[in-house]
Amino acid sequence: VRTKLPAVGTTIFTVMSALATETGAVNLGQGFPDFECDPKLVQSVTDAMARGLNQYPPMTGVPALREAVAAKVEAMYGRRYDAGTEITITAGATQAIITAILAVVRPGDEVIVLEPCYDSYVPNIELAGGTVVRVPLVPGTFRPDFDRIAAAITPRTRAILVNSPHNPSATVWTREEMLRLQELLAPTDVLVISDEVYEHMVFDGQPHQSAARFPGLAARSFIVSSFGKTYHVTGWKVGYVLAPVSLTAEFRKVHQFNVFTVNTPVQHGLAAYMADPQPYLQLPAFYQRKRDLFREGLARTRLRVLPSEGSYFQCVDISSVSDLPEEEFCKWLTREIGVAAIPLSAFYGDGFDQRVVRFCFAKKDETLRGALERLSRL
Ligand code: PMP
Ligand code: GLN
Repeated sequence: VRTKLPAVGTTIFTVMSALATETGAVNLGQGFPDFECDPKLVQSVTDAMARGLNQYPPMTGVPALREAVAAKVEAMYGRRYDAGTEITITAGATQAIITAILAVVRPGDEVIVLEPCYDSYVPNIELAGGTVVRVPLVPGTFRPDFDRIAAAITPRTRAILVNSPHNPSATVWTREEMLRLQELLAPTDVLVISDEVYEHMVFDGQPHQSAARFPGLAARSFIVSSFGKTYHVTGWKVGYVLAPVSLTAEFRKVHQFNVFTVNTPVQHGLAAYMADPQPYLQLPAFYQRKRDLFREGLARTRLRVLPSEGSYFQCVDISSVSDLPEEEFCKWLTREIGVAAIPLSAFYGDGFDQRVVRFCFAKKDETLRGALERLSRL
């Protein structure tokens, strides 16, 4: 086969989850909760199915869900997106991101990614025929380096992908950083794909700096989020994209042919459930408590704990524990210590190894305690 993606194998998440299952390790690798979602949400979806809401919804998504998203975004970030022309329901953030890229990136266009980055971005750009331009986040702190981003922009730059709260580093962009990005892009036509799937997981009282808050960014952004993350239902694969009318129109041209629409009862169930903002308003405190429990335990191990400002990830420096390359270390940790993790090198095109691995703390307290007990043997 003349492959279109020669560099791509099986994703690290699949590899590490399979190894965790095979070895009986505690799986803190792939990011997903090991606890149940709110039973009210399950009931809400079940009710929609029982009411016969089981045929195709509109291509753009169930109107009530688009309205609920519009209301939430306005309440959180102060910007009104039109439910009819600026919001589209997608099959998770993954499909939103590839669809946005296919909609705007033409062969030969350059697209900037900030490494380490989520593993679907680069293959998505390649499938669109775009040229990937990799700009590193500052090693060690994972903050954006605006001089390097500025230097990477050329007349052929079509878009930049940004992600805050960030997977895998758990950093959160500040208002000043978003303003810098806005200022940098102002004289250009560069579009932004802003991956905000962890928007409701920002800690220590910080607000999430959505691109929606910044008019100069909102006007050029596809803003992507995921109900899977917010409501503890990663397997439902439903998300959404916000974008100005003209960008949404382009997005929908592709969306109608790569998925057409997204499953109906889940959309109705989510729409009814979203009438109560408490579940997402309580999410920062819910995950901050888990983060703190996990960090306190990690501090008693030989791993060096890095900051976790948002998302449900916690990175650690392994240099005082092992000389193995990150990926080998993660496999060793899974087999010998019984805890699965994800190497940060998997989020870099060249496999850059800075002695850092990622744990997911979206787990029951007992799961986290069990993992910590094993990690204390390091
Ligand atoms: N972007 C980032 C940064 C993610 O961490 C994830 C989930 N792992 C996604 C996108 C994909 O989200 P979804 O499951 O809704 O497709
Ligand atoms: N986003 C999840 C993570 O980073 C994994 C999703 C996937 O398996 N593709 O762990």
